[in-house]
Amino acid sequence: MPYFHAKILCVDDQEANLVSLAAALRNSDHEIALARSGAEALEYVGREDFAVVLLDVQMPEMDGFETARLIRRNERSKSTPIIFLTANYPSEQYAIRGYESGAVDYLFKPLNVDVLRAKVEVFVDLYRTKLEIREIERRERERKYLNLVEGIRDGIVWSVSLKRNRFTFMSRRAEEITGYSLGQWLSNDELWDRFLSKETQERIRTVFLDRLNSDERLALEHQFKKPNGDPIWFRTEVHIEKDIESGERELRGLSVDITQLKRTEEALRTAIQIRDDFLSVASHELKTPITPLQLQMQGFVKMIEDSNIDKIPVDKLKHMLEVSDAQVKRLARVIGQLLDVTRLNEGRFNLDLHETELNSVVETVVEQLRYQLESSDCALSLDIPNIVRARVDRERMEQVLINLLINAMKYGSGNPIELSIKQTDQAIHLSVRDQGIGIAEEDQHRIFERFERAVSPNHYSGLGLGLYISKQIVELHKGSIHVESKIGNGSTFVVELPLTP
Ligand code: ADP
Repeated sequence: MPYFHAKILCVDDQEANLVSLAAALRNSDHEIALARSGAEALEYVGREDFAVVLLDVQMPEMDGFETARLIRRNERSKSTPIIFLTANYPSEQYAIRGYESGAVDYLFKPLNVDVLRAKVEVFVDLYRTKLEIREIERRERERKYLNLVEGIRDGIVWSVSLKRNRFTFMSRRAEEITGYSLGQWLSNDELWDRFLSKETQERIRTVFLDRLNSDERLALEHQFKKPNGDPIWFRTEVHIEKDIESGERELRGLSVDITQLKRTEEALRTAIQIRDDFLSVASHELKTPITPLQLQMQGFVKMIEDSNIDKIPVDKLKHMLEVSDAQVKRLARVIGQLLDVTRLNEGRFNLDLHETELNSVVETVVEQLRYQLESSDCALSLDIPNIVRARVDRERMEQVLINLLINAMKYGSGNPIELSIKQTDQAIHLSVRDQGIGIAEEDQHRIFERFERAVSPNHYSGLGLGLYISKQIVELHKGSIHVESKIGNGSTFVVELPLTP
């Protein structure tokens, strides 16, 4: 607790009285101020706080009663105790006037020094106790607010002296959020400029400085770099306030860490962008097979109209139907992929596992792709020396091989494709090898992710879903898939399946 200095104001028009009062009260514990008139006394109490005022009643111009009344009217001194000093024993009327004008006691001249000292001492003690209680309350309030401030987990409370352009307070949480210590925040002038840019500071000044008692608040979003270079986003609300102790105008702020919010916002924006891109690619993929399909249908109708049905060459008819069938398959595949992604998202992708001969799976796939293989000019060779059995979902395994073979044709530049199955002591290896455009090393991982493609959509059609779905299917079989490739040098996709126990 600080030591509170007490001051006593003695008011008397007689210099001799003042001198003897001062002598009687002289004490290292308190200070004494002397006023020679009511007016001078009022000046004093307007300027300073006093523990007690000793006021002579009989003074020329403004007497003690009038002075006391005005002391009471003054905000600062309205409850300062006043002791009247009087030579006359007061009549009842006189005493009432004195109390009415604010006296708390009377002392009679000639003064008894011991009584004087004892009375003054009571008021000085009272005054000190009052200040001590105030100080305790102030500290309690400060502690409470500090607890409140330090309890804010996602934000920093701070203040900046506008005169000195530097932080004067920063809540402890700043250390964890920003990576700078409180010491650095409070001593490093440069940090204020890094916290809010010069332009923002200028903006704040123009908003606040012309308006002295503005209770306006300004909210801004800004970025700050941690010592390790990581960015943090803050949403800061600032306002101006006068510091109680220094009287200086300060900028006060609450800066909430919104980095996570910003990241989510960014992720949402990307997700929306991906969705929009996807919708445009998907509608393109759905539309592309429709035009050739329509052309074949219209040609077919025209042929029937133009000539006798049994005169149409069978080869021609077959070709037209095969072309149509390929387009329908293409459409069905796109729609199937869209449905699969939805099922995977919703966790509804179930396998129907049975012990299966993989050789026959390959046969079905080759049969299904016969027309595409013929029209792609890619010769397919099979290398399946033995019968290989595995516990798989037959349709899903067909789907994986179809995806890999369609890619091998699409990106295989018309070169031969090889499909092989090998069984070792550890696993079953299915691989599809092409001699096409190949895949750059940095893309080899991401092409298995949703919508990821490593080619320009202007040159190659596709949704970027085939490998993603294939990977999910293989992993549901407790297997794995990877690619070995060099750009311009073909690719080999390898599926590894566990052996049947
Ligand atoms: P899509 O072929 O529909 O784009 P996929 O998921 O099947 O989707 O393939 C993803 C990407 O991987 C392709 O866009 C392509 O860049 C690359 N890719 C797949 N297979 C091959 C391959 N055999 N040769 C070269 N690149 C390939």
